[in-house]
Amino acid sequence: MRSLSRSNQHFRKALARLPLGVSSNFRYWGEDHTIYVERGKGARVWDIDGNEYIDYRLAYGPVILGYADERVDAAAREGMNVGGVFALSTEAELEVAERVSHMVPSAELVRFSNSGTEAVMAALRVARAFTGKDGHVIVEGGYHGVFSEVMWYSEVEEWSPGEGDPPVVPYGDGVPGVTRKLFHTVPLNDANALEDLLRKKHAEIGAFLVEPIMGNCCAITADVQYMKDVREICDRYDVLLVIDEVKTGFRVAKGGVQELLGIRADLCTFAKAIGNGYPLAVVAGREDVMRKIGDNVVHGGTFTAHSVSLAAAAKTLAILDETTALADIENYGRDLQAGLSRILDERGVAHSFTGHPALMGLFFAATPPRDYREWIGSNYEFYDALAPELHNQGILVEPDSREPWFLCESHNVGCLSETLDKFERAVDITLPKLKHRAAGGQNEDL
Ligand code: PLP
Repeated sequence: MRSLSRSNQHFRKALARLPLGVSSNFRYWGEDHTIYVERGKGARVWDIDGNEYIDYRLAYGPVILGYADERVDAAAREGMNVGGVFALSTEAELEVAERVSHMVPSAELVRFSNSGTEAVMAALRVARAFTGKDGHVIVEGGYHGVFSEVMWYSEVEEWSPGEGDPPVVPYGDGVPGVTRKLFHTVPLNDANALEDLLRKKHAEIGAFLVEPIMGNCCAITADVQYMKDVREICDRYDVLLVIDEVKTGFRVAKGGVQELLGIRADLCTFAKAIGNGYPLAVVAGREDVMRKIGDNVVHGGTFTAHSVSLAAAAKTLAILDETTALADIENYGRDLQAGLSRILDERGVAHSFTGHPALMGLFFAATPPRDYREWIGSNYEFYDALAPELHNQGILVEPDSREPWFLCESHNVGCLSETLDKFERAVDITLPKLKHRAAGGQNEDL
């Protein structure tokens, strides 16, 4: 049995100085299960108790090649020699911007930020400035970072189909109610819902912000036709289509989800995989829209375009653009899905996959959901019970079934059969536990 005694001990110490004992609420897994990492290499991480894990969380997506990738780290070291930040520009900014534009055709002009949150914040500001309209729409189940303008969500867990639309609630205290007035939600894959909303409110809505593979919602995926309809509806109502590629960018295809679904955004945002873990983000898009920056729209920041992150991004993007890395990741993902399916089919567990093999949702229902409302129809209780058992076996996945599995190039190095063996063991431990619980009247429907 895995021991977390050192992590538990450290948690108690950390709690005295750090709220929840961590630096991001999402890293808190309870007082007995919060993990402190010693190091990562390739597709594996080791915690401070010496437990080794094959990691399918990958820091929520930034790690596209592998932890401590020697090619990227060598480039980052050269970036250190440049000197950090100057409150002046360097030539490397143009080099990375050219690469982004080459890989993502809609990225006609590029600006850098430090995090996905900052990039999406900038995209919404530019959209408001360009359209002169302050409101925006997001998709139910969508997550776009930790700034107030997007920190409302549709509460489907306490909701039943047939009760009208699910309530929209803030992520927590401190989110000002005023942002709610400018904020609207629609279900994914329902172009009529977007059209109905814009018909009534287009005079106050400047942006439709969407993640066509929902990287924080079980990788539920937009149909190609839906995205075509959305493109057309946005144009008709003078609303900018903002595609948030913070998770999908430089992961699901060289040109991101826009390439995969054949869609072109007015504005798009990237972060995560662009630097294999070094903090860099991008807001990019149509030239006429992006030229608003500098034309009475403020964008910038002290750490923007840090020389270490730029050097790491230049190298990461070169590898993704010029080698078979993304195709190799996709192939690994397909083999992984085939192996997981075999194990689950042999035990009669209904399941399906959503998203893309490099960013995949494992969903316990025969048909994948088409929107967040359908997610409640899946057996997510099975996932909730399986995830901790996977951790015990040394497979790191998010405890919450709404977070997809992430894959990286290093998974190709000896991870497949080990993952499948451990997955099989975890399923065989979890199924009888749930059957036992079902005998008490719960969790019967596997
Ligand atoms: N947008 C999407 C789609 C995300 O998944 C995230 C983070 O997970 C963000 C924005 C915010 O990015 P960051 O955590 O870098 O601020």
